[in-house]
Amino acid sequence: MIPTLIAFDLDDTLYKERDFVMSGYSAIARHLAEVHEAFDYQEMMHIMVHAPVNPFDSLDEYLTNRSVQQSIEHEYDIPWMVATYRNHFPDIKADDAIEIIRQLIARGYRVGLITDGRCSTQTNKIKALGLDQYIAEENISISEAVGGEKYTPVAFERMMSLNADIERFIYVGDNPMKDFLWPNRLGWTTIQLLDNGRNVHSQMVAVPSSDYEPQH
Ligand SMILES: [Mg+2]
Repeated sequence: MIPTLIAFDLDDTLYKERDFVMSGYSAIARHLAEVHEAFDYQEMMHIMVHAPVNPFDSLDEYLTNRSVQQSIEHEYDIPWMVATYRNHFPDIKADDAIEIIRQLIARGYRVGLITDGRCSTQTNKIKALGLDQYIAEENISISEAVGGEKYTPVAFERMMSLNADIERFIYVGDNPMKDFLWPNRLGWTTIQLLDNGRNVHSQMVAVPSSDYEPQH
């Protein structure tokens, strides 16, 4: 086998991002429910899940109403909700993905991760899934850390230069708007994991040109 590196996207590829969203809402609601009994966990979850536009705007409205009714003072504003959501340690599982990565490594493939997002948020996800036990730290690429999202070649070129002994690069992702353009242009093999109906981003989009499309 020629030396091959398989890099994976994270969100909606190795686990379902919807599970992270629910975990974030739950972290917020759990904290608030402990602060005061007037803040009901189930009601707050329902409000965020069914928010017409922004879940934190809707939750803020609920907290304000409940506080006025019950004469409570609280310090939990939208910036607190956003920070809690982004920085909580998520309750998410990789299911089959860990076993697949183990088998790839056992068969002699090198494995990497290229993901867009904040360092704190993405690192917590990686640790919660246990991916840091299988993927070398230098081959975990987070856009905030490397200085470029997947709309740019930065992360893909970086992985190539850090793995100069590798002859074939493969990227596995889900999102046709950003996952395949640059690896296609850089000569990688690209593979799209099909949405099972739970993805956050639709795959039914008209891409700007054919080089946005996965090869497989
Ligand atoms: Mg994704």
